[in-house]
Amino acid sequence: MTSTTKTLPPPGAGYRGRFAPSPTGPLHFGSLVAALASCLEARHQGGEWWLRMEDVDRPRCRPGAADAILRSLERLGFAWDGPVLYQSARSARYREVLAGLQAAGRAYPCACTRKDLAGAARTADGGIRYPGTCRAGLPPGKSARAWRLRVDAGEIWFEDRIQGVVREDVAQDAGDFILLRADGCFAYQLAVVVDDADQGITDIVRGADLLDSTPRQRYLQSLLGWPRPGYAHVPVALDGAGEKLSKQTRAAPVDEERPVPALLAALDFLGQSPPRELAEGTIDDVWTWARTYWNLARVPRLRGQPAGHHSRYSLPP
Ligand code: GLU
Repeated sequence: MTSTTKTLPPPGAGYRGRFAPSPTGPLHFGSLVAALASCLEARHQGGEWWLRMEDVDRPRCRPGAADAILRSLERLGFAWDGPVLYQSARSARYREVLAGLQAAGRAYPCACTRKDLAGAARTADGGIRYPGTCRAGLPPGKSARAWRLRVDAGEIWFEDRIQGVVREDVAQDAGDFILLRADGCFAYQLAVVVDDADQGITDIVRGADLLDSTPRQRYLQSLLGWPRPGYAHVPVALDGAGEKLSKQTRAAPVDEERPVPALLAALDFLGQSPPRELAEGTIDDVWTWARTYWNLARVPRLRGQPAGHHSRYSLPP
């Protein structure tokens, strides 16, 4: 079931982190926090930091957003290694991995519509916990719309460097999850696992909103016999109403014209307590301080509001 790709460079021997935004809108404070934490941890470990545009969910992507995110990162002083990987260019590779799972009997076709599943239980992250309707075969007269992974019962556990030990029985909590969606898009869970493996990512630092997805990704990695990266999930930035900052909730873009306050607010949110004087400094001063003093152990575990809501650093308006 395992196969290697020839289009990407071989994995590095040391730490390799990544930032993997979905280009559904401009870079907002929540993504800046994930970018900064993943970048600083990679540099602290003497490792590489790669970028990936997660444009696999085509209906949600906005034209120009990927370039705008790259430009914002550049203007905020980020520098990355390797070429940027675009998921939209990777369908053949996802298809190849899906074909392996199909051939091994691990993936099965599903005819269920959203309406069919309206009464199904929910997963922790609000998805549908698949009741297994098509597991034993498509109901008579129905045709395949999507492909799902056949998940066996059993506990998955791992130790997150910020959130501690996470345990989940994926079969019980998420059920047979989607690999290829009814609209023809490959599912995030499949794409992210294939890309992290092909890019040789050793360590994933990202927002805690993805913590609930991680057991599914670990399950897939084990099934495919691929290396399992380490994880650190940073707290999620919430807006004034307590909602996760996201492009869907139209979170304000980071003001790249004022990189210093934006970076300081993100560092403060990440528990790093940058000194007040840095507000008067240059972008290089902020990066030098951040690279010198970054400490993952100081990142708080819990979700909270963006630093600007309650701290001495103001968020870009
Ligand atoms: N593309 C995802 C997002 O922007 C992040 C995925 C990941 O880091 O694994 O929320």
